[in-house]
Amino acid sequence: MEKAKEILIKCACWSVGDGKSILVWEDPWVPECPNFRPRPLSEESRNMSLAVNFFFNQEGTNWDNVKLQETFDQDSVKKIKAISVCSKYNQDCWIWTKSCHGNHTVKSVYWTFKSENQLLDRGNTKGNVWNSKLHERLKMHLWRIAVDILPTRIQLARFASNLDIVCPLCELAPESSLHLFQQCPVSQALWFGSPWGLKIANLQFSSPSQLVDFVVRPPHDLFLDKSQQDQFTLYAALLIDYVWSLRNKVVHGGDKPNRDDLGRGLWNRFFEHWSMLSKSDKIPSSYLKEDIHWMRPVRNGIKLNCDAAVGVNGSVVAGIARDWRGSLVFAFVFKVNTNLPIQAEAEALRMAASIVIEHNLHSVCLESDCKSCIDGLLDSNIAVPWQIVNLVKEIRALVQCIFVASVNWAPRRANMAAHTLARWSLESRLYGFFYAFSISPSVMSIILKEGIFYY
Ligand SMILES: [Zn+2]
Repeated sequence: MEKAKEILIKCACWSVGDGKSILVWEDPWVPECPNFRPRPLSEESRNMSLAVNFFFNQEGTNWDNVKLQETFDQDSVKKIKAISVCSKYNQDCWIWTKSCHGNHTVKSVYWTFKSENQLLDRGNTKGNVWNSKLHERLKMHLWRIAVDILPTRIQLARFASNLDIVCPLCELAPESSLHLFQQCPVSQALWFGSPWGLKIANLQFSSPSQLVDFVVRPPHDLFLDKSQQDQFTLYAALLIDYVWSLRNKVVHGGDKPNRDDLGRGLWNRFFEHWSMLSKSDKIPSSYLKEDIHWMRPVRNGIKLNCDAAVGVNGSVVAGIARDWRGSLVFAFVFKVNTNLPIQAEAEALRMAASIVIEHNLHSVCLESDCKSCIDGLLDSNIAVPWQIVNLVKEIRALVQCIFVASVNWAPRRANMAAHTLARWSLESRLYGFFYAFSISPSVMSIILKEGIFYY
């Protein structure tokens, strides 16, 4: 039990809502700080007994930068500013940081224990691999990862010590299976680009077999139903297979994957495999029949596609508003402080909703490719990752202020205009509102293409 207590202390953190219940120095409340506690600028500041809401601006919509700078050290200020302030509709609450949704469930405690104590029945993982509904080739690949016999450079170096062990994709770390499929930036981008917006690096795997276990037996609280779980297992298995093929291409002298092309083809393979599975299972899948492309809003309506691009120092959120003929009405890009992809995606939706209200637009559809944000907005009973719990509540409240509003999930491929705008702006450092005459030609060409061809 002592061990359990230790883990509880390690993983429990306040999620900032109205900031009234959290004491700045006594309580854990900054997720990115060690032990979730910020450091004071000087020991004197520690003597003040303050609640977190003291550091909000007057409107309670953001942090008061001056107050932060006067009280905390530089590093803590940066980490505090990465927390989204959503004080209007939220109270402070406890979160359990090790589970995906911040709920303290038996399963998440077990998961933490399991990874900390490295207890895992490998035989069981293998059994789950063979019992899954995957294609035989994918099963074999997962099984080789689970028993750690995939010929990564670290594995090969055990037999020949003069070999280069660095990861061929990122050249940042030794190439083990766990690095390649979880920690490598290339994999991380792909996991995040999946419909589940997974931040895979946050999960704690201490062996490749745990990663495989996660793929074939994903935690139930990630999904809505069994068919989604099967979709996840298939997508994840294909993703891992895809990373391995990218890596082999580079090893055999091919080019490194280009960031913009990354993941292209993965969706198609997913649909191919899923349609085969559905046929053999007789699952009627409406999911499949949809052709993937941007869809116009209803007549006289406006659709606002949102996306975010994450950089080293903060991120940008972007939105593109088009009318029912597919023409650009306006676009916006603004900077936000977070560099958590899922939080940036939610910030994009919040920004979009605020702009819609400010400009008094009616009949608006907000569209995003972040599955967990949209699922959370559509159904308040669905658990969302703890990093965005308060943001989602605030967005829901904002959307209710719009005369006629809807929210919709679209796959990345149907959200390319907003995606490209965010990337372009992150690189060119241009922010603000954009119109047809001022927007990047790369974005405009996507808007034109989507507007002309898709009825
Ligand atoms: Zn790598």
